[in-house]
Amino acid sequence: MKSITSVLETLFNSHKLNKEDCLVLLSQLDEEGVREQLSAEAVRLRRQYYGDKVFTRGLIEFTNICKNNCFYCGIRRDNANVNRYRLSKQEIMQCCKEGYALGFRTFVLQGGEDGFFTDDVMCNIISEIKAHYPEVAITLSLGEREMESYRRMKQAGADRYLLRHETANEAHYRMLHPDEMKLSNRKSCLYALKELGYQVGAGMMIGSPGQTYECLADDLVFLQELKPHMVGMGPFIPHKDTCFAKEQAGSVELTLAMLSIVRILLPSVLLPATTALGTLDPKGREKGLLAGCNVVMPNLSPVKNRKDYALYDNKICTGDESAQCIKCMTNRVEAAGFHLVSERGDSAAYGDDADFKY
Ligand code: SF4
Repeated sequence: MKSITSVLETLFNSHKLNKEDCLVLLSQLDEEGVREQLSAEAVRLRRQYYGDKVFTRGLIEFTNICKNNCFYCGIRRDNANVNRYRLSKQEIMQCCKEGYALGFRTFVLQGGEDGFFTDDVMCNIISEIKAHYPEVAITLSLGEREMESYRRMKQAGADRYLLRHETANEAHYRMLHPDEMKLSNRKSCLYALKELGYQVGAGMMIGSPGQTYECLADDLVFLQELKPHMVGMGPFIPHKDTCFAKEQAGSVELTLAMLSIVRILLPSVLLPATTALGTLDPKGREKGLLAGCNVVMPNLSPVKNRKDYALYDNKICTGDESAQCIKCMTNRVEAAGFHLVSERGDSAAYGDDADFKY
């Protein structure tokens, strides 16, 4: 077995780790100086590619209706305690209007897998947003769909797609999802999205029930294979209406270490400091920025709907107006020594003039 010093050397010099190296690293995070070295190298790399910029995304949670039943999710199909809603196109456009005025240049349309939002409906919404705000990037987060559906939405103007793989370990995937959901399909969707030219985001919860270092090592190997432009990672937080209600939340420290490791493996990655991190720790998002994150995602959804989009318990920022969210976020980002910018914030590894190519 390699020493931790030699694994860190491999990581810092080659930006690659095999599964065995990942296991050495994860099991020795508590050795003296390891976490500090990881975060210092992660911040150095994020500065190399993005300076002190932090990109902001306006999150619009436009439907909490979902046909799926992921065991960890508060808006899963079988949760009868959820007050279900769908935003109309007019409501979505109103969120965009407010967001644009506040300086947002990326809108994230996020929802459950809701059959109401067919390709025609989605393409209509996407084209309308692009017609009003041509310079804005549109990120979709709508779950698993057919290749043709992804193609049509890309043609309509979508730029990016977030689809967390949740775990790259088959046995662990089975613990988190009902039989009708397949890890192989999830992965195929991610590769299809890349092939279609989307900037693609994968990711996973840290500390989800049944997750071991081996699962996380599989995630790190998978992320090196996929080479996504974005990785969404936050701590697992239980939701009272799921079968995982009594499970422990994930660890903030392990989440921060994983963020730094992913930044070093994929130096130009877009890495959000998630709301889940801010929910478990009042300074969680600032700590995320100091671990290598370079994106924040304030909520632009109508305040009246926010409490109903609870994937986990005690989610923060459900009562603030969008203007309050951006003010609060600006202060947090500045306090961490970075600068919140009003830009599209594309991946440095994306486009013909990319600064970095995988
Ligand atoms: S995690 Fe996503 S796909 Fe699964 S139940 Fe929740 S909203 Fe639906």
